[in-house]
Amino acid sequence: MKCPKCSSEMEPVNYGREYTVDRCNSCHGLWFPEDSYKHLKEEWMSHFMDSGNPKVGKHYNKMKQIASPVTGKLMKVVEDKKQPHIEYEVDVDGHGAFFDAGEYTDFVEDTISDFFKSFFAKAKKLAG
Ligand SMILES: [Zn+2]
Repeated sequence: MKCPKCSSEMEPVNYGREYTVDRCNSCHGLWFPEDSYKHLKEEWMSHFMDSGNPKVGKHYNKMKQIASPVTGKLMKVVEDKKQPHIEYEVDVDGHGAFFDAGEYTDFVEDTISDFFKSFFAKAKKLAG
């Protein structure tokens, strides 16, 4: 698969048995098939795949008009509801989503901090 942003070759990265994510060899952007980015968000340490330089990611994040690597159709820019500074591109037919380098880590970190918040809230309750 070719990267929808910089047209470099993308390489499959496996996460567990269920998911294969494509990572760009050049800009390190990530392509998540279908809605796997939502499921992987819940998985502990799933952001290890996001090994790219966030500075490079920020540069490519400015590029909004990208074609889906699956269908060639223009992808929809989605703003994360909780963290509006995160904008990722979603295939309009549900084939996948693209995250720039560093973006997925940011996306996942929100879940992790929520996890800790609820964990500490519960611990407080138990402590009385
Ligand atoms: Zn790329």
